[in-house]
Amino acid sequence: MANLTKTDVLIIGAGPCGLFAVFELGLLDMKAHVVDILDKVGGQCAELYPEKPIYDIPGTTMVTGEGLVAGLMEQIKPFGPTFHLGEIVETIEKVGDPLFHVTTSRGARFEAKVVVIAAGGGSFQPKRPPVPGIEAYEGESVFYAVRRIEDFRDKNVLIVGGGDSALDWTLGLEPVARRVTLVHRRDEFRGAPHSVERMRALVAAGKIDLAIGQVMGLEGESGVLRAAAIKHNDGARSRVPCDTMLPFFGLTMKLGPIADWGLKLENNLIPVDTAAFETSVPGIFAIGDICAYPGKLKLILSGFHEGALMAQKAYKYVYPDQRLVFQYTTSSTSLQKKLGLS
Ligand SMILES: Cc1cc2nc3c(=O)[nH]c(=O)nc-3n(C[C@H](O)[C@H](O)[C@H](O)COP(=O)(O)OP(=O)(O)OC[C@H]3O[C@@H](n4cnc5c(N)ncnc54)[C@H](O)[C@@H]3O)c2cc1C
Repeated sequence: MANLTKTDVLIIGAGPCGLFAVFELGLLDMKAHVVDILDKVGGQCAELYPEKPIYDIPGTTMVTGEGLVAGLMEQIKPFGPTFHLGEIVETIEKVGDPLFHVTTSRGARFEAKVVVIAAGGGSFQPKRPPVPGIEAYEGESVFYAVRRIEDFRDKNVLIVGGGDSALDWTLGLEPVARRVTLVHRRDEFRGAPHSVERMRALVAAGKIDLAIGQVMGLEGESGVLRAAAIKHNDGARSRVPCDTMLPFFGLTMKLGPIADWGLKLENNLIPVDTAAFETSVPGIFAIGDICAYPGKLKLILSGFHEGALMAQKAYKYVYPDQRLVFQYTTSSTSLQKKLGLS
């Protein structure tokens, strides 16, 4: 078959769990190719909160989303994974016992002994607020995530929403933006109480504006925003000058093609056993946010654990005739050699 890339393991999703799986597989001599729809690695950490601090990664008091991704990329360097970014895995076909043919939206074809689905919530997409004509401004003046705080320096930013993201970015952008206006449809917020208090203190100090109402329309041309029309809850209407709008209405997770891969699904998640995080199809594993089992927590540290146990079972498929000896990285010279340390 032409253009067929053979690999031990094909990982679907380059989020933190997919990246750490490369490490655990690499320690056991399994090579991985990693495919992700996004044009960069890091999954939610890179796409949704690159500059936000994470406090619950073991052994690290604080690391930002992008800091964690950079650390993971450094950690997996010795294992030389091949990344295929900007492609969606479309099909998985079982051709052996186990052996799989996998195809992507760009026509890449893989033959893998093991497939690891680390697809998070599938392809996640921000919910679009019901503002007429908003599509014309998306990507130019309307953004659903903050990738770089510096991009908002000296901007008039309109933030819409009442949850953690809206509050966090109101607080986070206030020091750099020319002016921040927060718009929420009621004077109650779903975000962390501490953030609500800090936001109200900034309003009281005259440093930001708060409008209780809804964005009814946008004014501008060729994608360049000039102002937003706000209908306040008391019936008043106003025009808020702004050049950037950040709506935070939550995310919809679209499972995408995963639903067509013949796997057992429960509420759009993939049930797995907790001994190896294997799906209903032997040789296909699911780790991270996409997998479901009793007590599952959608935390990065859970996905790391799942990846470690997945690798132990994957080894049996990739090296069926070999016995796996459990080793510590602290004391095994053979593991240290693989890490390029001796
Ligand atoms: C605002 C926010 C703050 C958070 N804070 C914390 C925190 O403090 N601590 C913590 O532990 N967790 C936190 N989380 C949760 C954490 O980010 C997730 O648990 C983690 O990202 C899950 O990692 P993952 O690798 O399973 O999936 P993801 O990070 O979702 O990555 C999955 C990747 O798979 C790709 N993909 C999906 N389908 C396909 C396909 N068919 N083909 C190719 N690629 C595909 C996606 O594009 C995505 O890049 C937070 C989440 C959010 C949104």
